[in-house]
Amino acid sequence: MEYRQLGETSLRISILGFGASPLGDVFRKTDPADRTAAVHLAVERGINFFDVSPYYGLTLAETRLGEALEGRRDRVVLATKCGRYGGDEFDFSAKRITAGLEDSLARLRTDYVDLLQAHDTEFGDVRQIVEETVPAMRKLQQQGKARYIGITGYSLKNLMEIASQVKVDGILSYCRYNLLIDDMDTRLVPFAKQHGIGVINASPLHMGIITERGAPEWHPAPKEVRDAGQKIVALCKARGVDAPELALRFCLDYPDAASTLVGMSSTSHVERNLKAMELRIDPELLAEIRAMVAPVENVVWRSGRVENYG
Ligand code: NAD
Repeated sequence: MEYRQLGETSLRISILGFGASPLGDVFRKTDPADRTAAVHLAVERGINFFDVSPYYGLTLAETRLGEALEGRRDRVVLATKCGRYGGDEFDFSAKRITAGLEDSLARLRTDYVDLLQAHDTEFGDVRQIVEETVPAMRKLQQQGKARYIGITGYSLKNLMEIASQVKVDGILSYCRYNLLIDDMDTRLVPFAKQHGIGVINASPLHMGIITERGAPEWHPAPKEVRDAGQKIVALCKARGVDAPELALRFCLDYPDAASTLVGMSSTSHVERNLKAMELRIDPELLAEIRAMVAPVENVVWRSGRVENYG
C-alpha cells in the first residue's frame, strides 16, 4: 500500500480509501458477516483511511463500522462528518454538530476521530459555516475529539468559497475526478495547494455509474452520463478488462489527491479494488475511453442551495 500525507496535517493515509457509505445499505442490502470481513480484510491489507457519516444509512454505517473496527481503532485514520443527518435534514449549528459528534463517537466506539468534516456544505449557509460551524469544529479539535477538520461537498465553488474565508485542513469532493470528469484537477487542486489544504477524491466509479450493475435509482447524473458509464463497462469487457478496476486505477494514478475513497461493503470488492493497485492501464484503451466519453465529459448536476451551485 502507498500512503500520502493529507495536506499539512500529520495524517498519512492510504491512497486507496475505504468509503463506508455502502455499509449503511445505501446502494443495496449488505451481508452482515461479509461487510465486517470486508473491513477486517481492508485493515489487514494496509487500507488505513476510513470515511463515514451519520447520514449514511441514517447512522447504520457508523454503527456497523464502529463494530467492525473494534480492537483495530489504532490502526486506522477515521473520518466522519457532521451537519447532515436524517434524510434531507441539515443542521450546521454549533449546538447540533457538537452533540452530533458525541453521538458519532459512541456509534464508532472511540473517543476521537482523526478528521471531522462538515457534510455537504452546499446545502448550508456559507456565512453560518464560516462563522459558526468551522469555529465550533475547531473547539472540538481543541478538546481532543477531532484531530483535524475539513469540509465536504459536490459544489467546488462552495467548498472554495468557504475555505477562502476560514482555514480548514481537508476538502473532500466527489464525482469531480474520474474517467467522466476532471475539474477537481483544474479548479480545486490549484486552490488547495495555494492554501495548504489536503484533497480527498471520492466516488471514482461516479457513485456506481462505472460498474456493471450501474447507477442506483437516486443517482443525480443525467441519463447520457449514466449511459456513458455503461459504454465504458462494455468497452472494457470487450478488451478483457474490469471497468471498475481500471476506473479506480485511473484515480489512484492522480498524485494530487491524498486518497481516493471507493465505496465498499464486501470482501470481493475489497479484493478487486486492491487488485487495481497492481493494474497498469493500457494507454490506447484509455485514449479510446476518453474519446468515447468526450461528449459528456465534465457534465455536472445541481446540488444544494441555488446560490451555492457550481
Ligand atoms: P463509488 O464511486 O465509490 O461507487 C460505489 C459503488 O460501487 C457501490 O455500489 C459499491 O458497491 C460499488 N463498487 C465498489 N467497488 C466495486 C468494484 N470493484 N466492482 C464493482 N462495483 C464496485 O461511490 P461512493 O460509495 O458514493 O463514494 C465513495 C465514498 O466516498 C463514500 O462511501 C463516502 O465515504 C465518500 N463520499 C463522500 C461524499 C460527501 O462527503 N459528500 C459524497 C460521496 C462519497
